[in-house]
Amino acid sequence: MRWTSMKWMRKTALAALLSALLILAGCAPREASRTLFAMDTAVTMTAYGDAAEAGLAAAGDVLTDLEARLSVTRADSEIARLNERGAETLSDTALAVLSRALSAAEATGGAFDPTVYPMVRAWGFFTKEYRVPDAGELDSLRAAGTFRDVRAEGGTVTLAPGMAVDLGGIAKGYAADAMADALGRAGVTSAILSLGGNVRALGEKPDGSAWRVGIRDPNKPDANAAVARIRDCSVVTSGSYQRFFTGEDGTVYHHILDPETGYPVQNELLSVTVFSSDGALADAYATALFVMGKDGALAFWREQSGFEVLLMTKNGEMIATEGLRDVLGDVSPDYTLVWAS
Ligand code: ADP
Ligand code: MG
Repeated sequence: MRWTSMKWMRKTALAALLSALLILAGCAPREASRTLFAMDTAVTMTAYGDAAEAGLAAAGDVLTDLEARLSVTRADSEIARLNERGAETLSDTALAVLSRALSAAEATGGAFDPTVYPMVRAWGFFTKEYRVPDAGELDSLRAAGTFRDVRAEGGTVTLAPGMAVDLGGIAKGYAADAMADALGRAGVTSAILSLGGNVRALGEKPDGSAWRVGIRDPNKPDANAAVARIRDCSVVTSGSYQRFFTGEDGTVYHHILDPETGYPVQNELLSVTVFSSDGALADAYATALFVMGKDGALAFWREQSGFEVLLMTKNGEMIATEGLRDVLGDVSPDYTLVWAS
């Protein structure tokens, strides 16, 4: 008698638990996800709430529109036409992205420079027909001009002969912000977007907790070196491990170029992650700080505001700026965490 009653009690408790879970699941907010391929990367978007589907459709449209205007590889894009003709009247949208890129170039003293494109092309990073250009070739490409030689009058942009621009170093971050805005306008308050090395969080998770974003370990494909807990923030990583090729002599050449020399940046850094509520800034600065190197990047952070930085170095240091104290967790034992202030 006792046993049967205990069994019955257990069964009832189990049934109650199960139905509570089902009710909870029924109450859980709607979730919608979508993956598309744009800006040379897989883009995944997840949104919550009743407006999730409509929000994702709007965000997808924003991304498709930006790509069609900015892509250097689509002959009919505004930027491709500017590069082809040397002068072009741009839409307000394309002009806005270009002007963000030029501001980032100015702020970083040219460490980020959207006019490195002819040199990026010379290395074959766009066609994937890789080659090692010689210093003379790179010098003459550089001599055509820098970001300071981009003229904008009204909506018309003019380049010096031989120059070309590529907004690829800022476009994904800019797009992430514009997509988050579109989601917000559609009524979504909770979403997470991932565009290659760019993650953009809108609001917080539906349960009120922070989003957890893995920071890739540059030495271990598919492993995280740390996890960041973020709300309403962009997290962008640039690293030498993302796109590279190996030359005939065994040298590894990666895709972030020092605009001064046209050669892939060689310093103590493996990756730079920038955290900011401004995704375009985070994207451009991740590239720029990689070019600046460890000391330059930290000096830049000290004199500027609006972003935090995580650097991973070749000698196993993970250097994090003060503002990340409540953000960073699960640091891999392979790294020594150092706080910068
Ligand atoms: P990805 O676009 O691969 O995520 P980044 O955001 O770091 O990487 O941008 C690097 C891309 O920007 C390169 O592929 C190249 O086209 C271009 N680029 C390379 N060096 C620079 C630089 N110093 N400033 C601006 N753009 C750069
Ligand atoms: Mg970038």
